[in-house]
Amino acid sequence: MLKTHSCGELRREHVGQTVTLAGWVNRRRDMGGVIFIDLRDRAGKTQAVVDSGRTPEGFAAAEGIRSEYVVQVTGVVSPRPEGQVNANLPTGEIEVLVDQVVILNTAKTTPFLIDRDDTVDETTRLRYRYLDLRRERLQRNLMLRHNAIKFIRDFLAERGFIEIETPILFKSTPEGARDYLVPSRVHPGKFYALPQSPQQLKQLLMVAGYERYFQIARCFRDEDLRADRQPEFTQLDMEMSFVERDDILNLVEELMIGMVQAVSLVPLASTTFARLSYAEATERFGTDRPDLRYGMELKDISDIVGSSAFRVFAENVAAGKPVKAICAPGCASYSRKQLDELEGMAREQGAKALAWLAIQPDSGEMRGPIAKFFTVDQLIAITERLDAQPGDLILISSDSKAIVHNVLSTLRTELARRLGYTDKKELAFAWVIDFPLFEEGLEDGHFAPSHHMFTAPKPEHIALLDTDPAAVLSQQYDLVCNGFEVAGGSIRIHDQTLQAKIMSLIGFSMEQAKEQFGHLLEAFEFGAPPHGGIAPGIDRLVALMAGEPNIREVMAFPKTAQATDLMADAPSVVLPRQLDELQLAIKEKPAKAS
Ligand code: ASP
Repeated sequence: MLKTHSCGELRREHVGQTVTLAGWVNRRRDMGGVIFIDLRDRAGKTQAVVDSGRTPEGFAAAEGIRSEYVVQVTGVVSPRPEGQVNANLPTGEIEVLVDQVVILNTAKTTPFLIDRDDTVDETTRLRYRYLDLRRERLQRNLMLRHNAIKFIRDFLAERGFIEIETPILFKSTPEGARDYLVPSRVHPGKFYALPQSPQQLKQLLMVAGYERYFQIARCFRDEDLRADRQPEFTQLDMEMSFVERDDILNLVEELMIGMVQAVSLVPLASTTFARLSYAEATERFGTDRPDLRYGMELKDISDIVGSSAFRVFAENVAAGKPVKAICAPGCASYSRKQLDELEGMAREQGAKALAWLAIQPDSGEMRGPIAKFFTVDQLIAITERLDAQPGDLILISSDSKAIVHNVLSTLRTELARRLGYTDKKELAFAWVIDFPLFEEGLEDGHFAPSHHMFTAPKPEHIALLDTDPAAVLSQQYDLVCNGFEVAGGSIRIHDQTLQAKIMSLIGFSMEQAKEQFGHLLEAFEFGAPPHGGIAPGIDRLVALMAGEPNIREVMAFPKTAQATDLMADAPSVVLPRQLDELQLAIKEKPAKAS
């Protein structure tokens, strides 16, 4: 080894020992006759002191050293002189008095400073990711990620799970996104699909009798990208046999609590996770992934305003459309411009307008264009329903239930951000259960699965599949945390007849089903045990535990929001020969119509 210790290791008890350290020059300060080098490696930083009196050759070498040079020093550990102890640094009580300096490599001037946490634009960070990865923030995040994954592996192994790898070159999987396709050279015209998740394979492992499977699995989904999505991501894929829903929820809850307590920088809000039905979550928060760090719940005021003189509300209520509201504390002073911004966001969610009532801080009087349509009793009832105080702003939406929920959950999130509620450093986990089996509304006369087509209905709802499929609830469950869905799973269908029925409701002909999932359907004929599983998203969980807003900050080599790798320049064009081998041709892009 070119070092005896890491740069984060030396303490007072090492004083007097001769050590060799090697790492990068974090900073070099020339004090005239003495050069201080902060030497850095993954484990930390140590101050090395190169004194011209002690080592003239070492000093001459140190004079040529620049930031990010790779250097090896040998010297004696010594306590720092009085007044120079750095309490912020784990090695801050000591320094190494250098006897020998070896420059192992030089370095060009880096495009940004490694040792300072100042803001560098993300394009540059991604272009030079290997330099960005030297910085403290990403080192901390990747260590946290490693610790989280190690915790998961140990936890599950102790409980009888085994880790099994499944293929990356496989066949289309049913998570509802677009597949990444890989052309086969040996079978021209045929393609593998990269797995959107190992869903079918983990179910097949249950048929195969493995009972408790997990995998730190890479998943690929060619979705339209959003700021917080990545085309490839990692999930903890799990499946268990002979279990019921609550067995999985309890186990995953214990895993999450243990993991957060062991590795997270952000603490748990509570060590019991709330369990909300889908209906309750959407009624109270407008969404099935509510942020429970704050209140601002949606309140239904249809009964109060349905009989009011405000025609829009009265007519909507008569037509069965709800009127719901949220209360933003202290926001009565919002300007016209701020209110217009909120209304703009509501319109983006499909609202035709956004109604508001501002309670004046001193008089308690109601301000707002619609205030005059309500009686004093109605206004009092509204404030009471929302528990609103003078100085608060009430935002009201009325439309179809879906629009009202989208509008108010968007505004709730936006106001929480403006009010600083989302800065709260805690992790508020909750389970959402009892999802509808199918999404609302038909697609081409067929139902779309709300999770995926292998999710089982609640046993007591199976009969409803024949009479009222839209009312069927499923055994799907999601784990949410701070407004993100961090895991999703379900108890699966293990009965072929039921699976065939669901496929036909979804509009899958038996032929289509056989072509895509024939292997699975066939396997189910050979004794499939009752089973279920879940897949927590590792990237998002680690980002939450690191207090990072974006999953890119917890991935070593992420892609941009446009799915490109700026460092390696991927995706990239390939040689004509490579296309020929695959018997592929690139279609000319049609000329853009002017
Ligand atoms: N395969 C599902 C997903 O990736 C998770 C599961 O059902 O276990 O969302």
